[in-house]
Amino acid sequence: MGKKKVVVIKGDGIGKEVMDAALSVLSILDLNIKFIEAYAGYECFKKYGDTLPDESLKKAKKSDAILFGAVTTVPGQKSAIITLRKELDLFANVRPVKCYPGIECIRKDIDLTIVRENTECLYSGIERYTDEGAEAVRVITRKACERICEFAFKIANEKVTAVHKANVLKKTDGLFREVFYEVAEGYPEIEAEDVYVDAMALYLITKPQDFDVLVTTNLYGDILSDEAAGLVGGLGLAPSANIGEKNSLFEPVHGSAPDIAGKGIANPTAMILSSVMMLRHLGFEREGDLVENALIEVLREGKVTPDLGGNLKTMEMAEEIKKKIMELS
Ligand code: ATP
Ligand code: MG
Repeated sequence: MGKKKVVVIKGDGIGKEVMDAALSVLSILDLNIKFIEAYAGYECFKKYGDTLPDESLKKAKKSDAILFGAVTTVPGQKSAIITLRKELDLFANVRPVKCYPGIECIRKDIDLTIVRENTECLYSGIERYTDEGAEAVRVITRKACERICEFAFKIANEKVTAVHKANVLKKTDGLFREVFYEVAEGYPEIEAEDVYVDAMALYLITKPQDFDVLVTTNLYGDILSDEAAGLVGGLGLAPSANIGEKNSLFEPVHGSAPDIAGKGIANPTAMILSSVMMLRHLGFEREGDLVENALIEVLREGKVTPDLGGNLKTMEMAEEIKKKIMELS
């Protein structure tokens, strides 16, 4: 395996703090990775007049993966993260939802992944005022349905559940469901089922342990994945991946959290779990498992930041994880 190129965008606020913690953890692994820093976000805008300078975009395009902290939105300027998703065609948004030891969860045995189509649906940006009010266009293409469903079946172990509302949106969601079952035929060993989105919102609360991979269109995925994060301990713990044909980007679900920025108390777990997803994506399976297992031990022992009821600082928690990695390896 050749040396992998990972572009690091720390961003703003706690984005920088949790990224420093994650990089510190990664630094003790013997990884064949070259880390390249690039700039984006609010501070970058103040310095260079651009929320995502061309140079950063170029670096991102040439990378094997991007580690992204969090950026503060600059009103009236393009969003760095949305631009990256578009320019790199990161069509799949992947959010694992898992209950870790020591964390208060609705159920202990939750371990599912939400795969959200990231490029179209009601987020295509076709919206206009009309004489009567306003309207938005929901774009669903066969190609996008195919590639997101293929992606979901590839990562599933047991079952893929398509989430839609085809009883009302017969054409758009009807197409999504039709393509889902076409793709399912290529994966006879994986169970395929479909559920209405309103029912799914309920099932996430009442029987989340029944699901493996959920695949859905952009808007439903946006809503369900936040709901699901709430089931397993909230924002400080939720990692995500944005995957394209060529590039990939890994980021915590939370934002730059200006309310706690600069205090050194942000929970680095979501960023570290995003790095774990990156390691596995790049083929560093063993290292990914090692970091996740070390993190599990640290959470179990309650060596955590204030949001989880502990009294450690961001970097102290990273140090605990590093110690565990040394013990485990
Ligand atoms: P942004 O506009 O950048 O999204 P925000 O104000 O919406 O910022 P979020 O980062 O989305 O803030 O966080 C929402 C709330 O959750 C904040 O009160 C924040 O302090 C808390 N929070 C988010 N991430 C973490 C974390 N990693 N550790 C501790 N608290 C967090
Ligand atoms: Mg936010």
